[in-house]
Amino acid sequence: MKKYLKNILAATMILSMTTALAACGGSEATDDKEDANADGAENTGKQTLILATSADFPPYEFYEGGEVVGIDAEVAKAIADKLGYELKIEDMIFDSIIPSIVSGKADIGMAGMTVTEDRLESVDFTDSYATGIQSIIVKEDSEITSVDDLLAEGANHKVGVQTTTTGDAYTTDDIEKAGKGTVERYNKGTDAVEALKAGKVDCVVIDNEPAKSFVEANEGLKILDTEYTTENYAIALAKDSELTEPINKALNELIEDGTVKGIVDKYIKAE
Ligand code: GLN
Repeated sequence: MKKYLKNILAATMILSMTTALAACGGSEATDDKEDANADGAENTGKQTLILATSADFPPYEFYEGGEVVGIDAEVAKAIADKLGYELKIEDMIFDSIIPSIVSGKADIGMAGMTVTEDRLESVDFTDSYATGIQSIIVKEDSEITSVDDLLAEGANHKVGVQTTTTGDAYTTDDIEKAGKGTVERYNKGTDAVEALKAGKVDCVVIDNEPAKSFVEANEGLKILDTEYTTENYAIALAKDSELTEPINKALNELIEDGTVKGIVDKYIKAE
């Protein structure tokens, strides 16, 4: 799909955009960091690195025993450890992550977040650390059998998505604006899945790994064999952030020494 090419293009632009920023000063989240230190449980004397995420996206981020865990949480912790920061995780709806980075309330955003040209207009991204796939969840007896059924002339399906995700962007363009159906937007992926179960939408377009978790947790749902598109996940930072260069370097070291793969393998079992 042409969007896929766009994403690849966007990903290749990231480094050239970020390396130039390394010399720029100014810690945009200083005040919030002080606040974070003030109400943090322990005071280690370290500076705080605030991660904005949306912990409804297993296995990248989800709750376990009242704590946010998952691939992104662990990769962020490994980066914070490497750079000598105390990691503080702020959970919010996906739609709020980029605004919280732009306003300086959070230092980094990780939420299985895809690099897109639109997002590159307001934030920078590190190199990619994982690949995502947009998948389609349907009820087991659905008459929708492939992505082509959604995009066919005369198609008229109700598609559920998580608001402002790439699944929202693709289906808004390819289905809603093309007059081939409607898009219902939900704050959380789980809300979109509930709407599917209740028959309010005909399918849900969402990233493949959370899709697998949602299908496992809910009887009567399945993932279609055909994928909507493939994309790259990366860490978002404020434009001109002085953290971009050290975080990108730390991330690449953690990729090269196998730490990231170890974390991914812990949460995603080979099929
Ligand atoms: N990868 C998708 C995006 O970046 C969805 C991410 C999410 O829902 N956490 O838009």
